[in-house]
Amino acid sequence: MDNLAIAESQDTHFFDDVCKNFDHAAQFTKHDAGLLDQIKSCNSVYRFRFPIRKGNGFEVIDAWRVEHSHHQSPTKGGIRYSEMVNEDEVMALAALMTYKCAVVNVPFGGAKGGIKINSKNYTVQELENITRRYTVELTKKNFLGPNIDVPAPDYGSGEREMSWIADTYATMNPNQGDALGCVTGKPIALHGIAGRREATGRGVAIAARECVNVAEDMQRLGLTPGLAGKRVIVQGLGNVGYYSAKFLAEFGAIIVGLCEYEGAIYNADGLDVEAVFQHRKATGSILNFEGAQNFTKSSEGLEQPCDILVPAALENQITADNVRNLQAKIIVEGANGPTTPEAEAAFYEMGGIIVPDMYANAGGVTVSYFEWLKNLSHVSFGRMNRRFEENSNLNLVNMVEGITGVTLNPQQRATIIKGASELELVNSGLEDTMIRSYHEIRETFKTNPNIDTLRTAAFVLAINKIAVSYQNLGVWP
Ligand code: NAD
Repeated sequence: MDNLAIAESQDTHFFDDVCKNFDHAAQFTKHDAGLLDQIKSCNSVYRFRFPIRKGNGFEVIDAWRVEHSHHQSPTKGGIRYSEMVNEDEVMALAALMTYKCAVVNVPFGGAKGGIKINSKNYTVQELENITRRYTVELTKKNFLGPNIDVPAPDYGSGEREMSWIADTYATMNPNQGDALGCVTGKPIALHGIAGRREATGRGVAIAARECVNVAEDMQRLGLTPGLAGKRVIVQGLGNVGYYSAKFLAEFGAIIVGLCEYEGAIYNADGLDVEAVFQHRKATGSILNFEGAQNFTKSSEGLEQPCDILVPAALENQITADNVRNLQAKIIVEGANGPTTPEAEAAFYEMGGIIVPDMYANAGGVTVSYFEWLKNLSHVSFGRMNRRFEENSNLNLVNMVEGITGVTLNPQQRATIIKGASELELVNSGLEDTMIRSYHEIRETFKTNPNIDTLRTAAFVLAINKIAVSYQNLGVWP
């Protein structure tokens, strides 16, 4: 079997794994079996094929869009560009989106898309053709639109692809004023939002910080509370991995290991993430970074000494085969589905904690929600009130200085007077969401002694919230 065939044969249980986790959590809820079945099932699965011109001939491309749940509209979820993508994977990722949105109170149903290509094998022109044709196919079948289904970036896609989608959809819907809200993760120049690019990684870092700030849990793991000095290994140096590592380092953690598909590097004294990123850009590999030990097998990197492991590449990276070799005490899931159910059970048996994907990487969809709101309201956050706040603050400072006779220095004045920018508002909304959600999940975990993991607790919360939506829709008595 070649690599692709192996990956396909291994990956066809991802949706099953998500359903297993769902069924396990459902026993801690009181809902009707039929309602649980409705919540769990994928509502719409659209599989299609389309041709593109390649060289002097044509190539047929396989693609999917899955809308898992319509308990809220629109549905939302990224588009994955990968030659490993298959229907089972897209269904699993769409389902995870439903639960993720519910956990962080983002009012969307879950969806996901997939285009079965390795982007590296196509020119920019060909990628644009593929993306625009994919958009046309979704639009024709009513699987795209600001009130229908709103994609975003995922593995292998980014701002560039989102711009092509927005432009194609807007061109096909010239009378629709909200057309640019059909997709999020767009560049700022094309009505994107400040902070979206780094949102998932920033959210992962906040999730890790919330977890290690709980003194009671850290005591059980034999760790001191707080991120300062915690040793972290990150797998994947793409959008999620790079920004997770960057913000974890900013919050005081030490990045000791980084893993990419070409191998892994480790330095117990710490790695400068930006320098490694530049080294990879220049040499094409993270290997041979000055002062770091090389591992030619990426998976070996996961097994090196650390406190926190952040898998931020792909699913099924921590399995029954390698979980017992891990030295981390905490796994914070940046990727979707990186830990199999068997590996999760073993990791908890080993005394560890897993901060589950549906919460840990929800920063992206949270800020996508802000971007969608911005697109529907046609105004950037802070535009109406920033100057007003600054003037009010200035009046207050002048009045207090006048009454007290105390004069603030220019820096103090500037800090107090400043009104919030769009980026500051976005980051504030993101941080608030990540902090509240972690403690809601942990509280559910703590208050029911039969709930075995944070993931089960997150599923219980999600199921309960989605059930309420169905009941409010009058779909269920
Ligand atoms: P990306 O394409 O930007 O980066 C993925 C990185 O992983 C790439 O650098 C790739 O080379 C690397 N990689 C691939 N196979 C690897 C392996 N075996 N070992 C180590 N590294 C490997 O993708 P991304 O957007 O960062 O997404 C990563 C994961 O995060 C996916 O599971 C995705 O579903 C999830 N996610 C992404 C977002 C988002 O906003 N982009 C949001 C939520 C969840």
